[in-house]
Order: sequence, then structure tokens, then C-alpha cells
Amino acid sequence: MKFKKGDSVVITAGKDKGKKGKIEKIFLKSSTVLLPGLNIYKRHIKKKEGTHKGGIIDISRPISVANIAVICPKCDKPTRIGMKLDGSTKKRYCRKCDALI
Ligand SMILES: [Zn+2]
Repeated sequence: MKFKKGDSVVITAGKDKGKKGKIEKIFLKSSTVLLPGLNIYKRHIKKKEGTHKGGIIDISRPISVANIAVICPKCDKPTRIGMKLDGSTKKRYCRKCDALI
């Protein structure tokens, strides 16, 4: 997983294509990330005693990492992330401008 919590990303495919957001949560098992306010779907909730009123709510669904790209903080463009070794630690860098991300 090349993405990190807090990364600024842009959606590159699907109905929210072109929209930007910040990664709030990463789901390693399914290779998806949660972008608050994006990839919204309506969910119908059944009325339950003592919990909520029921009805239709908007929820953000996790989006596949295949459909997002990181926005480089330096060149401000959607980019692919490269990895390189700096001593013994792996660093992420922008393939467009070479800046560390
Ligand atoms: Zn860059």
C-alpha cells in the first residue's frame, strides 16, 4: 500500500472522477480507502427500536486504490508514487517532480 492516512488524493475513475479528498481510513484487506464526503451512496435504514429513526442516509463508501491518485504537495498534480531507499527507510517520491512525499 503506497497510500497513507492524510494523503491528498484525486479520484481518477467512476462517478466522482476528478473530485479531491483526504484519506481518512485505509482498509488493507480490501485495498480501499475512505474519503469523507466522496463516493456517496444512499442507504436505506430500517427503523430500529431505540437507535435511529430510519429512512435514507448518505454514506461514504470506501473506494478502491486503483481509482485514486495522490496529489503531489510540491507540483500539485495527480501523480504516481515511487519508492526509494534512503538509508534503511523506504521513502515515497513523486514520479513527476521527484519530491519526497
Ligand atoms: Zn510532484
